[in-house]
Amino acid sequence: MAGAIPAFAFVEGALDRAEFLRTQPGRLAALWPQARLLRLDPEGRALCGAEGAPLDERGADHPDLRGDAVLLGMEDQRAWFAAPDPGLDPDAPRVDLRTAAAHWPVREATAFAQARAVLHWRARHRHCGACGARLRFERAGWLGRCDGCGLEHYPRTDPAVIVAVTDGRRLLLGREAHWRPRHYSTLAGFVEPGETLEQTVVREVFEESAVRVRRCRYLASQPWPFPSSLMLGFVAEADPDEPRPSDEELEDARWFERGEVGAALRGEDTGSGLLLSPRLSISRSLIEHWYHAGAGAAGAG
Ligand SMILES: [Zn+2]
Repeated sequence: MAGAIPAFAFVEGALDRAEFLRTQPGRLAALWPQARLLRLDPEGRALCGAEGAPLDERGADHPDLRGDAVLLGMEDQRAWFAAPDPGLDPDAPRVDLRTAAAHWPVREATAFAQARAVLHWRARHRHCGACGARLRFERAGWLGRCDGCGLEHYPRTDPAVIVAVTDGRRLLLGREAHWRPRHYSTLAGFVEPGETLEQTVVREVFEESAVRVRRCRYLASQPWPFPSSLMLGFVAEADPDEPRPSDEELEDARWFERGEVGAALRGEDTGSGLLLSPRLSISRSLIEHWYHAGAGAAGAG
């Protein structure tokens, strides 16, 4: 089976993070006036133009935000920063990340995803988890230092597996109760402390569907800042058990035939068939990958 999978959001156009600049306050100060600035409101939405398009703002436009700004990275000679904006103007248009992913240029959308993740971490980690003292942010926003006990706090990312499970012929998908009718997706779940990714795949699939995975293989990953996940995409081969969805997490889980999945991928909605997510998340890409690889190929090799 081919290693590449269809593209998904928040990967293309990533900035050069230029980590070495984080310890050079003089150079950061010099870069700031001409730097591209992304402003995010407390809900993680970006301030935008009237039609939802990205703003082309510079640091010099917002000198008051300099102190809380985080260096995202460099695009050629231009720096990009992100800063929380308290959102004092309630009428200022703003756009959420899912919408931006569908409409913004990829560099802007990927930078927005990075900004959302790191600013969310900072907003939720204002104080030291060990002693409770207020953190002081250094390294262009990427390190929270506790002057109370000396601990250094770094941005957190929560790993989660997401997996296309096949019994060799069909694809296992599940749905949550609050989703629109007939909408199904790949199973997913967070990695727990002390667990390998492969163990997480086996455990999560069994917990959510009672289907037993025999083997699995990693394919690709996607930053998923809703608010702070990293989705680790797998394909898995499982026994053709009858799915028994867990009451807690899934309303339904079932096997889908290749023809049903293909019709959904082509957007053929007959009013009764399967519906899938748009091409934003790695979930859709895993499903497409399984479909195009052909029945029985997933997990082989
Ligand atoms: Zn502390």
